[in-house]
Amino acid sequence: MIKKTRQHISQNESLLFEISSPGKMGYQLPELDVPMMDPAEALGGNTRAEIEDFPEVSEVELIRHFTRLSTWNYAIDLGLYPLGSCTMKYNPRINEVVARTEGLAWAHPYQPESLSQGAMEIMAELERCLAVITGMDAVTLQPAAGAHGEMTGTLLIRALLTSRGNPRKKILVPDSAHGTNPATAAMTGYEVENIKSNEQGMLDVEALARAMNEDVAALMVTNPNTVGVFEQYIHKIAAIMHDKGALVYMDGANMNALVGIARPGDFGIDVMHLNLHKTFSTPHGGGGPGAGAVAIKKELEPFLPGPRLRRENNQWHWDYDRPRSIGRVRSFYGNFGVLVRALAYIMAHGGEGLKNATMDAVLNANYIRKLIEPYYKIAYQAPSMHECVFSDDYQSKKGVRTGDIAKRLIDYGFHPYTVSFPLIVHGALMIEPTETEPKQELDLFADAMISIAREIEENPAIVLNAPHLTRTPRVDEVTAARKPILRWKKPAESQVRAKPGDLRPDVPAREPALPASVR
Ligand SMILES: *Cc1c(COP(=O)(O)O)cnc(C)c1O
Repeated sequence: MIKKTRQHISQNESLLFEISSPGKMGYQLPELDVPMMDPAEALGGNTRAEIEDFPEVSEVELIRHFTRLSTWNYAIDLGLYPLGSCTMKYNPRINEVVARTEGLAWAHPYQPESLSQGAMEIMAELERCLAVITGMDAVTLQPAAGAHGEMTGTLLIRALLTSRGNPRKKILVPDSAHGTNPATAAMTGYEVENIKSNEQGMLDVEALARAMNEDVAALMVTNPNTVGVFEQYIHKIAAIMHDKGALVYMDGANMNALVGIARPGDFGIDVMHLNLHKTFSTPHGGGGPGAGAVAIKKELEPFLPGPRLRRENNQWHWDYDRPRSIGRVRSFYGNFGVLVRALAYIMAHGGEGLKNATMDAVLNANYIRKLIEPYYKIAYQAPSMHECVFSDDYQSKKGVRTGDIAKRLIDYGFHPYTVSFPLIVHGALMIEPTETEPKQELDLFADAMISIAREIEENPAIVLNAPHLTRTPRVDEVTAARKPILRWKKPAESQVRAKPGDLRPDVPAREPALPASVR
């Protein structure tokens, strides 16, 4: 039984081109009673020629069209968004209010320092807070996102090793790393060597020791890693690297599991990034602005991107005199609005609050794990941190794969979990509820997952053909990616023109082939 679903008011929305008819207008104005200049003349001959078949619709049609489209989005404001690795948590509105404070929202990067003291103080304070949270010595706020932070961090490592005489050749990356890690290593000119995980889902320390030699510049380790497991031997791992003069980079995008509990600086990490847009309260997804702050140990400080904040005579200054710096990685000072939100979030929570958020994130992931573990195969027995990863082993025996289960979840009113990632888990279901979800929502989600597991036992076709309750049935994702149709073309004269409310001519009409019990 579906307990929660979105029955949409408008499943069949035509294109504006399809509801257009000649002469309709989107506005009404009284006749002019003053002479008007000819618009073509007023524009100095810069008017565009008529766009062929430009849609003509009324105001209400236009407003409804876009309003309906806007409601097709799934958002964290509508419900659980359990995309593993993405930390899609609810971001308190108060941080939005703070970021929109007039003096902050309208600050200009070319404002003189004397008029930017508040903004500079915010950045200095955020750098200080993040250094305390990570246990590191200094922070740069410039990188615009996580992968950009990785690139910055890797360039810092290269600069430090070069200053010691040899940048070295390789970066070791465990198979449980986020995909951006090997990509970053390659982009910054390093060869990537893969290190296997053991059956507990942790980095194989012996394999690492064997791979280690003086060609290795660094290890890039995601911790907790992408199977949601904390690298318990991280101390040992760091010692192996340091013994051979290499550094340890930590991908800290999963800090949602550590803030207030464990500090990477204390367990041997030399450089790391944080995703402020995951852990520290910036709404993300859809490529919006982010911030990939990079935290480092002292020896890397001279190489940080400039300018750096400096305090002198009770004033903040930008210090551009940084001869050993890797250079700027971004224009100006980073995505300032994101930085404001992060500091507001940190200050509103305080140390205890941040720690509680972390504990709730871990509790929520383990709560879901316990509820659905009887029905789905957990990938690794090791305790879960802020996310739990299952495989579709039980379900694939019935021919149902993780992607099918995800599609069926849409019928139950939830955004799918992360599908088929991490790659080391065959048929992965990666679920990250985050700390902001109430127990009721987690229960509904677990009910949906359990109900789907039962459907697969009884009638796998329901799941294999899902989703059934959405506007569009299952799409052909391969064709959609390989041959995207991005432009509307006028149908040939012979084709019947769609009427308002018709299904798109290219989408076959269908009746949901569902037993009554699941409608
Ligand atoms: C999200 C994520 C990244 C990449 O961050 P972007 O901001 O998307 O560039 C890197 N590593 C991990 C573990 C992540 O979850």
